[in-house]
Amino acid sequence: MKQGKPRSIRQGRNLPEVRADNLSVVLEALQKLQPISRSGLADATGLTAATITHMVDELGSLDLLIETPSSERQVGRRPTLLTFNHDRGQVIGVEVSRSQVRAIRSDFSGRILARVERPFQPTSSVRKGLSLLQEVIGDVIDGRLPLLGIGVGVPGPVNSDKGIVLGPPNFGGWRNVELTAYLSEQFGVPCWLDDDAKAAAFGERWYGAGRSEETLLYISLRSGVGAGLIVGDRVYRGAHELAGEIGHTTIHVDGPICECGNRGCLETLVSVPAIMQEARRLGLSAENPADLQRLSAEGDLRALNIKDRVFTYLSAALVNAVNHYDPALIVLGGQLVRSWPELTTELAERVKGRSFGYLSKDVRIVESLLGEDATTLGAVAIAIHHILRDPRAVLTGVAAPGPASAVLAPAAP
Ligand SMILES: [Zn+2]
Repeated sequence: MKQGKPRSIRQGRNLPEVRADNLSVVLEALQKLQPISRSGLADATGLTAATITHMVDELGSLDLLIETPSSERQVGRRPTLLTFNHDRGQVIGVEVSRSQVRAIRSDFSGRILARVERPFQPTSSVRKGLSLLQEVIGDVIDGRLPLLGIGVGVPGPVNSDKGIVLGPPNFGGWRNVELTAYLSEQFGVPCWLDDDAKAAAFGERWYGAGRSEETLLYISLRSGVGAGLIVGDRVYRGAHELAGEIGHTTIHVDGPICECGNRGCLETLVSVPAIMQEARRLGLSAENPADLQRLSAEGDLRALNIKDRVFTYLSAALVNAVNHYDPALIVLGGQLVRSWPELTTELAERVKGRSFGYLSKDVRIVESLLGEDATTLGAVAIAIHHILRDPRAVLTGVAAPGPASAVLAPAAP
């Protein structure tokens, strides 16, 4: 009888996986250094000339490259310069949050070409939610261009491997919803799913504040506190897709009970609802963090105290994160960051004073560059990343847009 693989044996990597890794290295170098020659790519990536030639041929056959002769004549012949074909097709990025569905259409470089937003109530039926999602995506697609894939960010927890929304808190009946299978069937293209903060981390890594960093921690400060840790070109997930959940690290051992069952989690102290609850308790007439900002600028001591407490809790959490993960960069995003302009510099100052000198010296703490688009652009980045790891699987048989599409007026953004 055939025996199954014992789980304790480490698994090797077969040639297709090694090839996919190398291909993504070549594509990243190409996008950063273009226009570039074949020998330039070999120098930049450390791959042999033969490997580069093979990959360039493959990418060329899929219409992912544009070759132009260099104007510099060298001994013998002019080298050909390669650029990435950003117009190979469209990719859609979607964010489903507790208040809206937001979709963007992007080219292959992460450039936003169109955006559609609709109000969304997760408490209405899942069926209604799915058809709204389908409608929003349908509205943002340009019917004249090949559609290559769809990325989606939703509140966690998710099973990103299987594309399942597991059951986010305050998200109505959304439990074990096979979202990517549904969307793939509706639109006939591959679809990928991730937790909204992990998607945003990916967005910042590829198109935002973290473009030059290999190790990055993104923290989203809004109705919840989410985070995503990027190592190299991947999201680090841990054994149960919970790595980087700094919103549920214990900051106050006797603090309020959290939805996760623990006490004094960071989220119970610095999420926007927690902050506004404290403001109400103190009798402040503030609806949102921007109102608190105004009150503190007017010198209201209660508002100033609330903010100071939030900075204290957040800086403690960031010191812990720096000591746990040693990221090169921490990117802060979300409503709180946009409402309190001094938050990022204040935290950077406090963290510097509290972590190991040699650790805090080099970690940069910056504000998100992508703002409200972080998750949708991250969803685009996730889709593009998957497509480019195995472009043949998605692009074979999908014709590149010909000159005919170029003369059509672009759709209104
Ligand atoms: Zn918790």
